[in-house]
Order: sequence, then structure tokens, then C-alpha cells
Amino acid sequence: MSSVLERFLSYVKVDTQSDPNSETFPSTAKQRDLSNQLVIELHQLGIEDAHLDEHGYVYATIPSNSEKTDIPVICFCSHVDTSPDVSGAFVKPIVHYNWDGSDIVLPDDPTQVLRIGELHDLDTQIGNDIVTASGTTLLGADNKAGVAEIMAAAEYLQAHPEIKHGTIKILFTPDEEVGRGTEKVDLVKLGADYGYTVDGEAVGTLEDETFSADGVRIIIHGVSTHPGYALGKLENALKIAGEVLAKLPKDSLSPETTADKQGFIHPVQIEGIQEKAVLSFIIRDFTESGLHEKEALLKEILNEVLKSYPNSTAEFKVTEQYRNMKEILDQHPKVLENALTAMKMAGLSPIQRSIRGGTDGSRLSFMGLPCPNIFAGEHAFHSRLEWVSVQDMEKAVEVIVGICRVWEGNASNFDRVAGAMIE
Ligand SMILES: [Zn+2]
Repeated sequence: MSSVLERFLSYVKVDTQSDPNSETFPSTAKQRDLSNQLVIELHQLGIEDAHLDEHGYVYATIPSNSEKTDIPVICFCSHVDTSPDVSGAFVKPIVHYNWDGSDIVLPDDPTQVLRIGELHDLDTQIGNDIVTASGTTLLGADNKAGVAEIMAAAEYLQAHPEIKHGTIKILFTPDEEVGRGTEKVDLVKLGADYGYTVDGEAVGTLEDETFSADGVRIIIHGVSTHPGYALGKLENALKIAGEVLAKLPKDSLSPETTADKQGFIHPVQIEGIQEKAVLSFIIRDFTESGLHEKEALLKEILNEVLKSYPNSTAEFKVTEQYRNMKEILDQHPKVLENALTAMKMAGLSPIQRSIRGGTDGSRLSFMGLPCPNIFAGEHAFHSRLEWVSVQDMEKAVEVIVGICRVWEGNASNFDRVAGAMIE
């Protein structure tokens, strides 16, 4: 058997960085290098239908081994790509066995140091085996920890037919980091009733809530003239745009002034000339009404500014981006309940929380596959200080296997399986 660590070390060495500026799908062909490897490994595990489709998605099925015929089909999902923010080429993973809590200086760039107090959750890992990159790249635990955990759980289920489970689906997606991970997924082909993305942070966390998200574009049409003869006529769209930004609240409703369940109005791009300027915003909140309030406020600010520019006009365009998955998950309480049960069986105290962002799961939930996010152990993602501990990854494998058992209904005689999976 390969351990989850062995799998993880092998996957992070494959460069799978996605590219937000690419027009192809997947955005980078190199993501298929890992996806192809995963298909080969799934075949080696005896999972015969594993395949890579033309869009770069890996689909696989572990058939039911239970006599029961009414068990929902459960999918586990992770993404193979890594963030465009930091290089993912030539990753050199380092395992710091039995870490004693001292600073971890990354050898290829000694300015990169993992230090207790600076990185959250690191203080909980003393005595564990920590995996980091070498200082010049990210590690790729986001989300290759999840990929390795799902693969290790699949291997465990295949090797232990005495563990009864229903039909289990595996889905590895490309391009999550560029927001396109669910764009070409075929949910009919997948055929799952419920899913779990394995892409969360600290051990024991379960995320069932994401932001709801809209984009707003304000297109300002000013009045353009020759600047030498502009007296009383020119209405400069750039100045109108600047005034709108200046009137945004300073001590609230921005990413830098909010936390937890508070939403915000966030300008992300400005472009223009004196005749026309375009302001792009992202609006975030946990409720749809919260989104609408923020959009109304922004519109009010715009109208207020326009009062001083009587011959200028503006368009206000709202685009829906994604919605809080809780709306869907509340209709399917078993999905959360069973994950919480599996975590408790693994000896964890589950922490239910919300994500100040979106996940593939939020889109999948609205596409018809209710899909919360469970921990993968990944930390400090999208940075050169990214880390994951072997012990957290092993716990995640245990929880994935546990979720399969709980859905089958055989959890009553559940015994801890972590030890067996470390061999
Ligand atoms: Zn991720």
C-alpha cells in the first residue's frame, strides 16, 4: 500500500499551475499530467472505469459492496491545479519529521520561515510530521492533500472489502483556482446524490457556508471636449469614477474592515478616458438581501455623485457570480450530519464554519450536487510557506472512509482505521 504521504509527495512534484489568462480548457495542458497519473493509479487499485475526459476531469467509481440498494451515491472531489499566484514548478517537498516546534527555515530561500505565532494552527502540530516546500515555490497542499487523501481512502476501501459502503464516486477537477473548476463538469455522468469537496484547512473543520457573490460594473459616460475649450462643458468620467470610490465607506463594508459574517463592496478594477470610465466591483455577503443592500448603497453613491455632472450618465450592471451553499445544504441535513458523525468517530471535535469566499462546492450545490467542504489539512495556501501535516492528512483519510460507512449505515461497529492506513 502507498501511504497518503507517499502519494502526496509524488503529486506535488507535478506542476499543475492554472492560468487565469488562458482561453483553453483546462487553462493549462500540464494539469493533465497529474490527472493522467491519477487515472493510472486508480486502475492499479482495480477501479476499472477511471478515466480522464476531454475537458481534463477525472471520473471514477468504487462500486457498492453492500446488499442494501437504497444508499445514496456519494462523491468526493478535489482539484488538481495550484494557484497562479506562486510558482508550482519543480516543487521540492521536505518532510520535517517529529517537528519540535522550532522555526522551520526553508533552505532555498532562508527569508521564508515557518514560525509559531505567525502562522495559525502551526502551534497545534508539535510532534507531528510537517511537509513544506523548499522556499521558492508553493507546496500545492491546496489541493493535492485532498487528492492524496481521496486516493488513499479509495485504496483502503479496495483493500478492505469487509467495510461496507454504497457506490462511491471520485471526481478530480481542473482550474478551481481560476474559478472555472465546475464549468465543464458532467453531473449526469457523475451520477452522485451528494458530494464533499476535500479542500479545507484545519483538522476537524467542516464548511457548509460560503459567501454569496455578485459582480458590479459601473460604466460612466462623461462629456468629452478639447481641454483648451472645455469651460462649462467638460464632465470628466475619470473624475466621476474617482469621486465614487472616494465616497465608499472608510471604516466598514470593505475587505480590510470586515470579518466573520460581514460582507463588503470591493473595487477590483478601474479603466477609462475622460469620455468613459468603467469601475468593476465584487460584492460579497452571506445573504442575498445583504448583497442587494450593498448594491443599493453603491447605486445611491453613484447617483449622488452624478448630481454634480448633469450631462453625464452611468450604467449599473449586476452579474450573479455564486450563492451561499447553505441555502441548498439546509434542505439536505444528512449531508452535514453524516460528515459530523464520521469526524466524531475519528476522535475529532468538529468545527463547523463559513468560508469568506466561494468553493467549487458552492457552485456544485446549486448545480444539483449538495456539497460541503471538509478539511484536507492544507495551510497557508497560495504562499511559499504552505504546509500540511502527515497526521492531519491521515485523519482526513479516516474521515473519508468514515463518511462512506456512515452513509451505508454500518457505523455502529466502527473501529478506528487510521493505524492500518499508515502502514
Ligand atoms: Zn483549493
